[in-house]
Amino acid sequence: VPHVLVEQNDGSVDHPRANTLNVRSMEIFRRWGIADEVRLAGMPEDYPHCALYITDLNGYELANVSRPHHGGTRPTMHSPERPQRCNQYWLDPVLRRNAIASGVSDIRHCTSFEHFDERDGKIVSRVRDTKSGAEYEIESEYLVACCGGRSSIRKSLGFQWIGEPTLEYNVNIFLRIPDFWKYHNKGKASLHFFIGPDGLWATLAHLDGREYLRLTVHGHQYYADPESIDVEGFVTRMLGRSIPFQVISTRRWIARDLIADRYRRGKIFLAGDAAHQNTPHGGFGLNTGLGDVLDLGWKIAANLDGWGGEGLLQAYEAERRAVAKRNLAQALAHLKVDQSMPREPNLLEPGERGDQARERLSSFIKEHKPRMLISDGIALGYCYDPSPICVSDGSALPPDDPMSYSPNAHPGSRAPHAWIGDNRSMLDLFGRGFVILKFGNATSTSALEKAFAGRRAPLETYEFADPILATLYGAALVLVRPDGHVAWRGHELPENCGALVDKVVGVEVRKPIGVKVDE
Ligand SMILES: Cc1cc2nc3c(=O)[nH]c(=O)nc-3n(C[C@H](O)[C@H](O)[C@H](O)COP(=O)(O)OP(=O)(O)OC[C@H]3O[C@@H](n4cnc5c(N)ncnc54)[C@H](O)[C@@H]3O)c2cc1C
Repeated sequence: VPHVLVEQNDGSVDHPRANTLNVRSMEIFRRWGIADEVRLAGMPEDYPHCALYITDLNGYELANVSRPHHGGTRPTMHSPERPQRCNQYWLDPVLRRNAIASGVSDIRHCTSFEHFDERDGKIVSRVRDTKSGAEYEIESEYLVACCGGRSSIRKSLGFQWIGEPTLEYNVNIFLRIPDFWKYHNKGKASLHFFIGPDGLWATLAHLDGREYLRLTVHGHQYYADPESIDVEGFVTRMLGRSIPFQVISTRRWIARDLIADRYRRGKIFLAGDAAHQNTPHGGFGLNTGLGDVLDLGWKIAANLDGWGGEGLLQAYEAERRAVAKRNLAQALAHLKVDQSMPREPNLLEPGERGDQARERLSSFIKEHKPRMLISDGIALGYCYDPSPICVSDGSALPPDDPMSYSPNAHPGSRAPHAWIGDNRSMLDLFGRGFVILKFGNATSTSALEKAFAGRRAPLETYEFADPILATLYGAALVLVRPDGHVAWRGHELPENCGALVDKVVGVEVRKPIGVKVDE
């Protein structure tokens, strides 16, 4: 969709935020043809993705949570991609370069969005060139507020935050420490969590696997002046000794648990942090935002192309707000686990009393923390059910376990991955329009193809003889949306294919679909 993106900053990233790209985000990048570039921009391929819980880098190790299916290039059982770590510091330039190369993205840096009006069905945005001060207008069909937690668009629409604006105060210290590995004996990990007698006090995220690190100091204190904090003291505490280091930048931030009460008015939408803000526990923020744009993108494109109806635009809020609520609840639960970590005054003591304290903490961490660090269920298991544009087949909702994903093609779910030859995943078939998958001896789909053609909506048909695929998808016919989610499935086409198409492309359904076979 041709668009103008205005960004008040000059495009440089001066401080690292999100690191974790979950497997669904990597699938989105694969669809855009940039997964390899993202992988290369992130952690070295052989870098371990484990998380270590320690007292300090030369002190006691309490637990090691390994994540063998994170990072690297080998496919996993449920996806052609793997979760990766690529900080926004390196990810943003990759996204920007590819957006520009796409030819449809007009990115204007140093341009501040001021306000908007709606005139004759169009949206007229007033923007300001922050260098020259010149103001001008941009007219568009749609407006997507992807301007983060302080979104002025959300405020001017009158949408309210629901939730908790202040969960915890934190400070991030962006560090450069060449030869970091020679200063400690704990080995490589992607995350080091530091536990003291008062609980978790800091997290060290390894950004490039070499020399760039981000130390997050957690706490309840508001750092009025982040420049004046005692970085030397924190670095010494994390290593148990004093070493040379360079501070690149320091930022304070507040962990929040907020969701907008609405995501849309007419042709104006909220996406990303403008719509939801969660604590970084579990690393869901950027990933949930990417899910928003995957969902919204095809719906806007379908409306601009003339085959998508109002129902698609309505479905955006229904589908994505439910996912954000689910992910927010999970992130909040993880924060509460950290806050409830047992306090062990003897933790650093050598000998039996110290050993017992460390043993208690170790058990607590092993019981609770893998759920935060391994979240394939959060990444892949969300299901748009109920959704106004998916057709229920009467089957039970699949389990929603945050840690693990069970492949399924329940209407609303992400259509499951399977290799279909030539190094192609089933997922590689989705993205350009709707797809009807025919398994085994499925009956003719010509009535459906005709109904799609009548709506001028794009549909491709693929046939598979492999019975394993039919079992995985749970029906002989499965209709998949452009975002790779199942819209409908059945063993035969419904009586009224026109009504089915109207429903899934968001046009008002006037006649019953007449489902012939229920699961
Ligand atoms: C410490 C930390 C760690 C995190 N780790 C993770 C993680 O591991 N995984 C994860 O998924 N998420 C993580 N997150 C969350 C993640 O960073 C955010 O969810 C994500 O950056 C949100 O992206 P966004 O584009 O919606 O908003 P933002 O990144 O906030 O971008 C909004 C942009 O809009 C611009 N803007 C705002 N107002 C205007 C205006 N009026 N005119 C023009 N431009 C404007 C801003 O300059 C900004 O560049 C973390 C966050 C923090 C703080």
